[in-house]
Amino acid sequence: MSAILWAWAIPTAKAAIIADGHGLRATVYNGGVSTTKACGTVIYHQLALNVPLDTLFTYAHPHRLPEGTRVAVPFRGKTVAALVWAADVAAEIDSAKIRPIAQVFDHEPPLDADWRALLQFAARYYHYPLGQAVFAALPQGLREARPVAPPPVAQSFVLSATGLAQAAPKAHHRKQLALWQALQQGALSLSAAKALHTQAPSLFKQWQEQGWLNAIASPAHGAVPPSPHVLNEEQQAASQAVQAACGGFAPFLLHGITGSGKTEVYFDIMAKVLAAGQRVLFLLPEINLTPQLLARVQQRFPHTRTAVLHSQAAAGARTQDYLRAQSGQAALVVGTRLAVFTPLRQLGLVVVDEEHDSSFKQDSDLRYQARDLAVWRAQQAACPIVLGSATPSLESWHKARHGDYRLLSLSQRAHHAAALPQIVLADVRRQKLDNGFSAQALALLQQNHAQGGMSMVYLNRRGFAPALFCGDCGHTFGCPHCSAKMVLHQQARQLRCHHCDFRQPIPRICPDCGNQDLTAVGHGTQRVEETLRQALPGAAVVRVDRDSTARKQDWAQLYERIDAGAVDVLVGTQMLAKGHDFARLNLVLVLNADGSLYSADFRAPERLFAELMQVAGRAGRADAPGRVLVQTQLPDHAVFQALKAQDYPRFADAELAARQSLGLPPFAFVAAIRADAPSMSEAVAFLSLIIDEQANGFRLPETVSQFGPVPMLMARLAGRERAQVFLESTRRRDLHHGIGLWRQLLRHFETTHRTIRWSIDVDPTDI
Ligand SMILES: [Zn+2]
Ligand SMILES: [Zn+2]
Repeated sequence: MSAILWAWAIPTAKAAIIADGHGLRATVYNGGVSTTKACGTVIYHQLALNVPLDTLFTYAHPHRLPEGTRVAVPFRGKTVAALVWAADVAAEIDSAKIRPIAQVFDHEPPLDADWRALLQFAARYYHYPLGQAVFAALPQGLREARPVAPPPVAQSFVLSATGLAQAAPKAHHRKQLALWQALQQGALSLSAAKALHTQAPSLFKQWQEQGWLNAIASPAHGAVPPSPHVLNEEQQAASQAVQAACGGFAPFLLHGITGSGKTEVYFDIMAKVLAAGQRVLFLLPEINLTPQLLARVQQRFPHTRTAVLHSQAAAGARTQDYLRAQSGQAALVVGTRLAVFTPLRQLGLVVVDEEHDSSFKQDSDLRYQARDLAVWRAQQAACPIVLGSATPSLESWHKARHGDYRLLSLSQRAHHAAALPQIVLADVRRQKLDNGFSAQALALLQQNHAQGGMSMVYLNRRGFAPALFCGDCGHTFGCPHCSAKMVLHQQARQLRCHHCDFRQPIPRICPDCGNQDLTAVGHGTQRVEETLRQALPGAAVVRVDRDSTARKQDWAQLYERIDAGAVDVLVGTQMLAKGHDFARLNLVLVLNADGSLYSADFRAPERLFAELMQVAGRAGRADAPGRVLVQTQLPDHAVFQALKAQDYPRFADAELAARQSLGLPPFAFVAAIRADAPSMSEAVAFLSLIIDEQANGFRLPETVSQFGPVPMLMARLAGRERAQVFLESTRRRDLHHGIGLWRQLLRHFETTHRTIRWSIDVDPTDI
């Protein structure tokens, strides 16, 4: 029981003195923030703070705050934001040292128990401090020790009684009619209206003045109009299978070839889930989150409120969209990997499009895999999840093969006329190449240019570390002590293993066939542009790389130039595999694909296959199939044979068999413990120190193997040098136990090694 003893108010602030079971307290409310000074008993709270420490911090408040509430507290001379993690706890330290919570942002809804459980899991699984994980998952606005204004009430428009009585616009005003019909079905936001008709703002103004339209606060859900797309049999079967599983956790892998219409399947399921009043989380790679995609979403779901969350969004807009999702104002959340942390009640469906895409893995701070967390969330929410791809990750394919995920296949292109591209393998064994180009390739490029086509020269830079192989029999050099491929170090005249650090002099003859002319791969494409300019005088050659497309508008400008027909040859790396379709593109040339097969990065063939299938899908159009020419010295290799047949299952099953025989993921669980320092020797010494310490009684579980320390393949980054140790086990639990032990020692030694920074990467994808 509590009694308000005294209250007082002025227009901008209110205050009260309250007595209850906890004693007396005075509270001042000001602009949505309450500041409380205790006069009697206090309640202790454990708070998550954004600091690199593995503890929660105890602070006091006169009354019990709901868990998940954002507060501000004094910490090391500053006022910082914190999140209430546990309330009404016993004081673990001298209560005289416990400081009071300075401010409570109690007009913001607390982050709910499901969200906190997700963060608790992520912090534990990725061995990252809980407080830092919590703040990494929040948008910028909520990381600051300031109150956040609630998102403005968004407006939608509905027809008034007079409006409903009006005759529909004439049929030949097609867009105006579409707008009118959409309004008959329910409230429409201005942005959804604009997706239907660009003139919507002026029309709405006019209709409002005529009294036909009323502005209202946007509802989260609204009618989902029927789709203009008719699903083919396979699409329908896939959609039905997922719909039938609604109401319980059910993971699906939707394997659909390029152009098979996966998005229409997602939309069909989403329509059902949204119509049932539930919410949908739709994740996709950053590069695919385009204005075109968002317009498609709004055209399909014009009455559904959508929040868009991605890292390129302005901080303010992202915070607002986050709050909209949290408060239930948005029924559909579309976003990139960070959107996996969006708080959502009544989650009814999760979709992860292009689930194999490497951008779902965060490679700094909290190193999470959004796809895996999305599956965890679906399980928590007891709803289906659809992972979709033309070339699924081998992890997901493996699970589908084992029945952990249900496999749904789309094997036909949605539009019958659309022909699959033609993939040709060009055998370049014993051919003299001109800066990487065979004579056949250059002739094809010249011919295509003369006929007005657009070409793409695709440079494979994955696993760029140079390697050695036998051009006669295809022998590659694996490490005799572990399952990694050896990296060629020309200057040191050595082959080195970047997994266990085994070294050997460069062999002179092939151990398999005795060939004395071993070939180095991984070089030889530096002068591609010059070669092209000489071979194709007058052609517009454009190189696309990280520097030329650092900003979003760089891409936009590039697309404009391509659309305007101002580009004849595009040269670039895997960045070109994603994103837009180029209508004129009808020839793709892949220069140095072989490098992936010798790469020290065991995922290189998987990425190569996915990228080439994606690139191939971009070439050609409905009336004229595109051509893809892949230069290789190993035309009989399983990867290239599967590529030629455009047969993903054949590739995946062969590659999984190889991984199994080598004990690589997904047949083993791996973590990388990394250290970086101004010099490699410091980084290696630091990790070695911990390994030496293990000899003194610290025991890894028996199933855990340890490799390293070794330099990372990309050893230098931002002026620092990076080394790592791998922990591997066939038992996930043992691996986590091993990581936990490592972490204790890292914490212990970091205090005496100030130049070192360390990190833990669970399920790493970089090596
Ligand atoms: Zn050989
Ligand atoms: Zn090795």
